[in-house]
Amino acid sequence: MTKGIAILGSTGSIGCNTLRVVEALGESFRVVALGAGRNALKLAEQITRHQPEIVAVENDECAAQLDKLLHERKVKAPRILTGEAGLCNVATHEEADQVVSATVGAVGFVPTLRALEAGKRVALANKETLVMAGELMTRAAAKYGAELLPIDSEHNALHQCLRGEKRAEVRRLVLTASGGPFRLKSLEEIEAATVSEALQHPTWNMGAKVTIDSATLMNKGLEVIEARWLFGFDADQIDVLVHPESIVHSMIELVDGSVISQMGTADMRHAIQYALTYPLRQTSALAPLDLTKLGALHFEAPDIKRFPCLALAYRALREGGTLPAAMNAANEEAVRAFLDERINLADVSRVIADVMNKHVTKPVDDLATIIKVDLEARQEAQHTIQNLTQTPRALAGQSV
Ligand code: MG
Repeated sequence: MTKGIAILGSTGSIGCNTLRVVEALGESFRVVALGAGRNALKLAEQITRHQPEIVAVENDECAAQLDKLLHERKVKAPRILTGEAGLCNVATHEEADQVVSATVGAVGFVPTLRALEAGKRVALANKETLVMAGELMTRAAAKYGAELLPIDSEHNALHQCLRGEKRAEVRRLVLTASGGPFRLKSLEEIEAATVSEALQHPTWNMGAKVTIDSATLMNKGLEVIEARWLFGFDADQIDVLVHPESIVHSMIELVDGSVISQMGTADMRHAIQYALTYPLRQTSALAPLDLTKLGALHFEAPDIKRFPCLALAYRALREGGTLPAAMNAANEEAVRAFLDERINLADVSRVIADVMNKHVTKPVDDLATIIKVDLEARQEAQHTIQNLTQTPRALAGQSV
């Protein structure tokens, strides 16, 4: 039986890799809907190759550009939709059995929720979705019988490690982190880091947002919160271990002290294929792991003095409610300001801490609460960023 696949964020790193996996898997999968942002050229190539029924782009201008490109290529245009409503149509397309949620940041939030409400199996790469509203997402999945499978490599690894284990027999989850490009740098060097230095990830090739998050370790902080919602463990049972080779993708420790890990090469296609074919395994042409070439694997504790974002994420998880959503919004704004060279890398955690300190945490009642908190936290973050830009060291030294 051929399975229909819809992809939110098809032109991004995970989206492109998903299409490569779908091609490699052959007849068993068919692409039925693609959602992208503004990259009309890449989307036109994907449409030519995969012929989906519908696609969504960010706005009318992109839609017109895409239409023109397809016309030039003499390719029959699929139905072209726009904006969040367009992404929601992609996420709930009737022929889609599985939805790969791979947009970056808050934009994938509502479409992913709609996919779960439509009872789709969702392969989730968009961790921000669970950070913002893990409770709403998991509640929707349970209510509508939708399955949530992680594509994020660490969570994908944990999913594999947890297969067949009893929940009560698991003592803790250990998420591994590469440590990013500044693992061995001093606080001063991190403060002075340029955008291009921060974009040099040592082991993974990813989009800009997640690469900067990896440089600040906020990525791991978001992943700790993501793990809480995917697997139902609390903050005290989720640890982070720096592992520069990115071969052990994560591990679990059982009550008898036994540790089970999942290993593989740093190629997202492994995790994507696992999520698509689960509970089955299908032969893959990807190069297998050769440990003799590596010789040694290294592990060390994360340093929250140099990487305060990790501590901020634990704080948000422990306090719960709307605080993780506010933290996530502040981080997105701060990362964008860093990429635009408006603030320095160490300012990212200052912006987040400032927004979190001002946030009054409320319970997450519904979607509207989250959307409001997201918007307000972004405005607050912009305000802090503005202050930092005008008086560059105004918040320096403030403890986070
Ligand atoms: Mg990850």
